[in-house]
Amino acid sequence: MRRLHDPERVISLSFAGLELSAFSISGLATYVVVPSFDACFDLGHCSVKASQQRHVLLSHVHQDHALGVVRHLSLRAMTGAKPSRVFVPDESRAGLLEVLRAHERLEERSPQDLEAMVKGVRADEVFALSPQRTVRAFDVVHRIASRGYTVTERRRKLLPAFEGLPGEAIRDARARGEEVYAHHEVDLFTYVGDSTIETLERHPEVGRSQVLFLEATHLPGTSRETSAKYGHTHLEELAELFARRPEALASPHIVLKHFSMKYGRSEILAAKAALLTNSARA
Ligand SMILES: [Zn+2]
Ligand SMILES: [Zn+2]
Repeated sequence: MRRLHDPERVISLSFAGLELSAFSISGLATYVVVPSFDACFDLGHCSVKASQQRHVLLSHVHQDHALGVVRHLSLRAMTGAKPSRVFVPDESRAGLLEVLRAHERLEERSPQDLEAMVKGVRADEVFALSPQRTVRAFDVVHRIASRGYTVTERRRKLLPAFEGLPGEAIRDARARGEEVYAHHEVDLFTYVGDSTIETLERHPEVGRSQVLFLEATHLPGTSRETSAKYGHTHLEELAELFARRPEALASPHIVLKHFSMKYGRSEILAAKAALLTNSARA
């Protein structure tokens, strides 16, 4: 087996103040662990680290994105951790619940409160991940129902009138009920699972995120038609989109994932280098 195809061999990434670990190969497994969010995005494989995150946000239920949910629930129950919170496209919730219930019966386990643990997500729905962070879901074009997720962080900054004042003065002002902070929201992280290029045409606002996860399943050598037929994005389509609508790909940190199993590491790196050279020329 190629080392590239071992789902335990995650890569570690660090940007925009976030520490992430990720694995993603088409058909095999995709999962992105973000401990500071207490969350995983997709869960095609459930590592120990992934099981330690309470929230699982599934883009869609193809096996390479969702197979780890059974183990996530099981490991958390076994270790006495708080029950998993699984978010899944609303259209696929009933099917996922059936799979999870079937597993409970197979293993002759006492039933968990799956209805409470698995939440259906509709397009444009907003839900809280923590007091400071909310998730905005949006529709993604793939072969089955799919959602993208943008994590927005609420941040505060001292109002200019209070800048440079000692801590006591600020505390006193707050005690008097005065507003000392200005609040603003930052789109910190966007995750798109399997998708055609159409999603980015419909949602160019994803380019405002500090970190943007996108798929590029196919590289030059495979036809774009084949890629689109299976609901995926071709690397050349991303290059073209960048030339046409640069705002959709304006994120300072873009991670391309979900390459087909047929490509080796050197082919992926060569395609990336060609893409960067071409966009620098454009
Ligand atoms: Zn996939
Ligand atoms: Zn898929």
